[in-house]
Amino acid sequence: MLTYLMEEEEHGKTSAAKILARAINCLNPKDGEPCNECEICKAMLEGNLTDVVEMDAASNNSVEDIRSIREEVNFLPTLAKYRVYIIDEVHMLSTGAFNALLKTLEEPPEHVKFILATTEPQKLPATILSRCQRFDFKKISNENIVKRLKIICENSNIEISEDALKLIATLSEGAMRDSISILERCVQDSSGKIEEEKIRELVGIPKIENIHKIVESIINKNANDALMVINNLIEEGKDLNNLLWEIIKYLRDILLFKTTNKLEIYNEEEIEKIKQLSEKTTQEALLKLIYNLSELENNMKWSSQKTIMFQAGIIKNTIEIQNDNLEQRVEKLEKQIQSGNIVYTKKEIKQGKEEKTIKREEPKVEMRVPKEVIQTKPGEYANYWNEVINKLKTSGKIVLYTNLLNTKAKPDNDVLQVEFKNKITAFAKTVLSKPDSISEIENLVKSVSGKDFRIKYVENVVHDTIKAQEQNINNLDIPINIIED
Ligand SMILES: [Zn+2]
Repeated sequence: MLTYLMEEEEHGKTSAAKILARAINCLNPKDGEPCNECEICKAMLEGNLTDVVEMDAASNNSVEDIRSIREEVNFLPTLAKYRVYIIDEVHMLSTGAFNALLKTLEEPPEHVKFILATTEPQKLPATILSRCQRFDFKKISNENIVKRLKIICENSNIEISEDALKLIATLSEGAMRDSISILERCVQDSSGKIEEEKIRELVGIPKIENIHKIVESIINKNANDALMVINNLIEEGKDLNNLLWEIIKYLRDILLFKTTNKLEIYNEEEIEKIKQLSEKTTQEALLKLIYNLSELENNMKWSSQKTIMFQAGIIKNTIEIQNDNLEQRVEKLEKQIQSGNIVYTKKEIKQGKEEKTIKREEPKVEMRVPKEVIQTKPGEYANYWNEVINKLKTSGKIVLYTNLLNTKAKPDNDVLQVEFKNKITAFAKTVLSKPDSISEIENLVKSVSGKDFRIKYVENVVHDTIKAQEQNINNLDIPINIIED
């Protein structure tokens, strides 16, 4: 009963692909829809039409699998007008398989159509994407999944609690078919009413909860907690590239929420969690994390030590978030020192009482900070550079913006040397060296500084300033707390 309904209820990408395959081959299409009655439609509905080939890239992802298609496409279809290849979960193809597929996509015979279905289009090579006509399917809302599941349960006499239905909807992440297979599994494995607890026992906790925990730990600068969740998932056999992508997607959604204050695909509880995280961090930190992790994702593709690279990457980014905060603190401290007004708070922890902060105004505090460190050779770095970077952000040049974050610029005659803290990554080099990018930056520099400069990138310049400041804070040996203004 349930299996039958599953076919009926599923209206995702794969079903749409099949409908499309019928529509282009149907002998009597009505307004572009298949008639479902003609010889061809019937054969297809019964799964008897050899001209339509369904392939699951999750299990047939090798170069050989695609090569066999390449040989087949030269033959004319037997019955239908077009030979149709439906490749499901196409993002799972290997790099070699993609290249083989590309050759066929470049010059497909007249009588062949490809329908590529995927939940993760971002994983497809641009060369493939550019040859496709793309249709995006919206996720089904949790509410609608619950409604559907209720009907199925009523028809099949399955007793299930409302909370259990909600959990299944969350677990299925907007895919009706997944929700039904979870329900099927619960029905098989339990007798009596299905409760939320039972599902957690059988299927595990929702993916989103794990992702939330990892991201929360990174933002809270707790690398240990993040690694604990990650290691558990690795033990469960979770694919690392997928996990990393889910983390990046979640960070992007937090950023989206921070800027637009709304998110569509999450339920209320999830949005509340995202809201809390978004309040704990800044747009810049999120952008930087997304950028760093995307780069990690790229590097991991070519690495034979994926796990170690992944773990190291998470630790590195957790530490970098800490440094960012430190950097902000140092900047504030610097400003306050320069303005001559130091306000510091002294923490007093009384036993049995809550931590208490007493604010005290001090007339002026002599600080043992070497001069050359505070005044980073004034006049040498262009003070308008930050404005240029911010203008990139406001004008939507986010990629340029993230790649230039934390750089400094020094004018040298008609050249503006843009200094990077470390080595420029290969990706950044490609992006920043594009003629378009350079003229974009040069124009902005002109509009802000009023002067014509040629941009030059300088890498590997070590700035000891931050480290020196850090040392100085330690040398001050008075407890300093920057007061938020
Ligand atoms: Zn038909």
